[in-house]
Amino acid sequence: MEGIIFKALSGFYYVDDGTGTLTSCRGRGKLRHEKVTPLVGDRVEFTSLDNGQGALDAILPRKNQFARPAVANIDQLVIIASQSIPVTDPFLIDRVIAIAEGNGCESIVCVNKCDLASGEELVSLYRNAGYQALAVSAETGEGIDQLQALIAGKVSAFTGNSGVGKSSILNALEPGIALKTGEVSDKLGRGRHTTRHVELVRLSCGGVVADTPGFSSFDVDKMELCRKEELAGRFREFAPYVDQCQFQDCAHVKEKGCAVLAAVKAGKIAKSRHESYVRLYEQAKQIPDWERK
Ligand code: GDP
Ligand code: ZN
Repeated sequence: MEGIIFKALSGFYYVDDGTGTLTSCRGRGKLRHEKVTPLVGDRVEFTSLDNGQGALDAILPRKNQFARPAVANIDQLVIIASQSIPVTDPFLIDRVIAIAEGNGCESIVCVNKCDLASGEELVSLYRNAGYQALAVSAETGEGIDQLQALIAGKVSAFTGNSGVGKSSILNALEPGIALKTGEVSDKLGRGRHTTRHVELVRLSCGGVVADTPGFSSFDVDKMELCRKEELAGRFREFAPYVDQCQFQDCAHVKEKGCAVLAAVKAGKIAKSRHESYVRLYEQAKQIPDWERK
């Protein structure tokens, strides 16, 4: 049978076969030989045993993999932002999107607290850049049905700066879910436990979310960014202008005659997106000369 690992605990992998039933499985010796550690999110082949448990036979190829928390096959990152307090710095959004782009992962920008500030500015900024974006309010419920439609049938992970309302949105999507995570964090103490437990949770709207009890967020700060040369490819709306750029090896940062810079000037690429690109370009890794062809 085929299924997805929803939870891993003390050597057991809890596999969902698509019906919501979890089978607790042990890895077969073969898997240990291959030195692949099964991850939450892995698509696996397993065999049901007579005792109601199962055995993991194989891990199917991963479409992506994240380190913190350790999870595989995330379809989309839902980036929660806010234009009310705390106001989200678009740079943080752009950084997460660039990481998602490199991991074969979609990004959805979800601007919360639209009861306090409409969020329209960020929504149109990211729609124009080619991403799904919407404004919601966890408080009034506005837009939550739209968010449900976007996460249905997908595996999503929520991320966003502290205080933007991640737990509140999870609760609005599925009453009680973030309460559970709150209890766990109180018991363990947020600062003290270092291994970030992650599990997949099936929501009644048909979506699956990666829940990290006590954190409810991806630790995107520690995620590695790409090399400088790859960065422009992670800004979706730059593509036509990167193609047009006449300079080979152009950094698209401040070169005179660069087509990307011309598009920024003409208002076809948002200024804030390009500013984020420049900041990330400075932080990205340089390929050492000896590694160049
Ligand atoms: P997290 O740190 O991202 O998980 O944020 P929380 O869900 O804990 O929310 C932080 C604060 O913002 C809490 O006081 C919430 O009540 C408040 N909050 C969350 N969503 C909304 C919203 O849509 N509108 C308003 N007005 N307040 C909200
Ligand atoms: Zn250029």
